[in-house]
Amino acid sequence: MPNLTGLVTLITGAGSGIGRASALHMASCGSAVMCADLDGDSAKDTAARIAEHGGSSAAIEIDVSNEQAVKDALAETVRVLGGLNVIFNNAGVASGVGWDRTVAINLSGVYYGLFHGAQLLSERGGGAIINTASVAGLVGLSLPGVDPSVPVAEGAGAYTAAKHGVVGLTRQFAVTYGKRGVRVNAIAPGYIVTPMTEFVRTTEPAEEYITSLHPMGRLGQPEEVAAAVAFLASPEASFITGVVLPVDGGYTAR
Ligand code: NAP
Repeated sequence: MPNLTGLVTLITGAGSGIGRASALHMASCGSAVMCADLDGDSAKDTAARIAEHGGSSAAIEIDVSNEQAVKDALAETVRVLGGLNVIFNNAGVASGVGWDRTVAINLSGVYYGLFHGAQLLSERGGGAIINTASVAGLVGLSLPGVDPSVPVAEGAGAYTAAKHGVVGLTRQFAVTYGKRGVRVNAIAPGYIVTPMTEFVRTTEPAEEYITSLHPMGRLGQPEEVAAAVAFLASPEASFITGVVLPVDGGYTAR
């Protein structure tokens, strides 16, 4: 387990799925965690679970598509937890909520975290940023039973475009902040068993289809993504920046 003792981490989308698993795991590695989510109660619940195990945590309600809210959450983390070393820009919505909302949350939300977060980290002596992309940031997304009457930009197209954008932002900020002590990386999960993927796991044929996309023959668990995030956040990844790490059971290997 990487040692994150003494670090302070801000995680968006920390009330559920990958964000919650990462919050719990990074806390167990020693980091204090600010749990941020659109659903303030779920963020509080994650923070409470950390506290139950003796960790340091706090919670904040935030809509990452609101630039000022992201800026405020960064400042609040420093104020409440006494520092900021790691930012995990993870909040996101599934395909199917339309172009504007998808791009506002999945792309602009990450951009705000990077734009204000990288600057703040560099002023504070450096740190690490991890963004949640997706296999859909590297290749086109395969979904079971896509309705051909749904315009692609409102379905998988918007999601895929936003996640490709996250990959681009990751590389650009890694280049820009390379000499300013801020490492910037992304994870690219395959299909992970979280509330987000419930809609594609509703029928057995659909679940079999998405499972078949992964050469390992199974879907991923949020804890398996959390382990990659904690590694990228840790000093063990000290010479790693600008990478997009697939955590996908081989989805993008073929
Ligand atoms: P999840 O269980 O639905 O968790 C996402 C969390 O983000 C939810 O708590 C959600 O709150 C929150 N959120 C949504 N919109 C937000 C906003 N505007 N501001 C702040 N928080 C917001 O989904 P997940 O699977 O953990 O997904 C996390 C990230 O992984 C997303 O970026 C997703 O695109 C990415 N990803 C997931 C998979 C997968 O298979 N699960 C694969 C590749 C990438 P509400 O519940 O209140 O909406």
